[in-house]
Amino acid sequence: MNITVFGTGYVGLVQGAILADVGHHVVCVDLDADKIERLKQGIIPIYEPGLEPLVKENHAAGRLDFTTDAAAGVQHGQVQFIAVGTPPDENGSADLQYVLSVAATIAEHMERDQVIVDKSTVPVGTADTVRAKVAEVLERRGRRELGFDVVSNPEFLKEGSAVADCQKPDRIIIGTESEETEEVMRELYAPFNRNHEKIIVMDVRSAELTKYAANCMLATKISFMNEMANLAERLGADIEAVRQGIGSDPRIGYHFIYPGVGYGGSCFPKDVQALIRTASDIDFDAKMLKAVEARNAEQKTTLFQKIHTHYQGDLAGKTFAVWGLAFKPNTDDMREAPSRVLMEALWEAGAKVQAYDPEAMEEAQRLYGNRDELSLCGTKEAALKGATALVIVTEWQSFRAPDFDLINERLSEPTIFDGRNLYEPKRMAHKGFTYYSIGRNSST
Ligand code: NAD
Repeated sequence: MNITVFGTGYVGLVQGAILADVGHHVVCVDLDADKIERLKQGIIPIYEPGLEPLVKENHAAGRLDFTTDAAAGVQHGQVQFIAVGTPPDENGSADLQYVLSVAATIAEHMERDQVIVDKSTVPVGTADTVRAKVAEVLERRGRRELGFDVVSNPEFLKEGSAVADCQKPDRIIIGTESEETEEVMRELYAPFNRNHEKIIVMDVRSAELTKYAANCMLATKISFMNEMANLAERLGADIEAVRQGIGSDPRIGYHFIYPGVGYGGSCFPKDVQALIRTASDIDFDAKMLKAVEARNAEQKTTLFQKIHTHYQGDLAGKTFAVWGLAFKPNTDDMREAPSRVLMEALWEAGAKVQAYDPEAMEEAQRLYGNRDELSLCGTKEAALKGATALVIVTEWQSFRAPDFDLINERLSEPTIFDGRNLYEPKRMAHKGFTYYSIGRNSST
């Protein structure tokens, strides 16, 4: 099939590449000319395992192309994907300006019937808004005879494993009330639906809500565990034991119940916020979601609070080694990352930071390159040099078994603030560290 994808971010680029890889002919359209030029040269703007070879191979094979020419893009596809950003606007709602602008562009250039697929995460009712926008432009062009349908097909990929998630999706949600459109979508996704049925067809509004419900459920699990961790810490219990104790119940399960420093990234914070806003627009008080959000905001400050308490507020002039800047491992994404809340609080208190992240250094440079209080270091060991203490924010694999003797030697005080519970408190005490973690007693 000929497919057009608007937006070459995490979602559009990965989706475009995996659709091309199974044999579809895909054209990706983006407004960002520099990005498109680099993609044509095989330079991938984001870090996602497996993405680079996939893009290069399919581009070379002539199945995946990139353009800024929206008219040519629309001409190419019989299915048009909208995969542009939906950031929060000033009151927390999803900002639909990019989605609606793509809808208008499609309507402006379409010359045959089209299936328009909304892959961006959008509030319930957006398909109706997109439909109205397309109809309005067609009307203005005097092309009312052109038929189109708007499908909700939310994306569930996880940054860091986006390619694998799209190649082997747990489920494919298709929100449409039209049998004809359903058939087009089934054909498009047939290569991903071979071993067992993964396609779940439902009405458009339910599909739109499914995406928010999924992200809000996951955010709820995280905030719940962080609440338990706070209780455990104050009650003299060990949250890691509690985690294993509850995870063994299959009704609860082990996934997504790790205590930490709060969720970040481009999705959970904005989607929880947007659903709270959707609820308030219809005079419904989303009490649980508000609590999830409040717990998360507080949890992001927990490392700073521990550091502040340990040094009795005397942070001015101290230097902290920070391991991990990305909001989670295997990505370079620092949007809403807990590391940002921590570093900004440390700077505010007069401290300096020496930071290392395996993938997010460029992004950190882009965000904070002008700050003298930040040194970006080439290795995790270099970040330790002359630092007072080590703070671990992201649970990268390479942080799990470091050289503790070297850490001990390089820090001026052997103190670790671990936001991800990577180490055993007893073992750390044995090695001579003062060790703070989440939801467990600190050890010295
Ligand atoms: P992104 O910000 O990484 O990328 C969006 C891209 O769209 C940018 O390259 C931008 O230049 C381009 N764009 C904006 N307006 C355009 C236009 N008119 N025409 C062509 N291109 C245009 O966004 P993302 O992370 O890929 O997310 C896209 C959507 O998918 C969002 O709604 C997001 O909530 C949702 N989503 C994201 C993830 C994720 O993990 N990132 C997962 C599931 C769903």
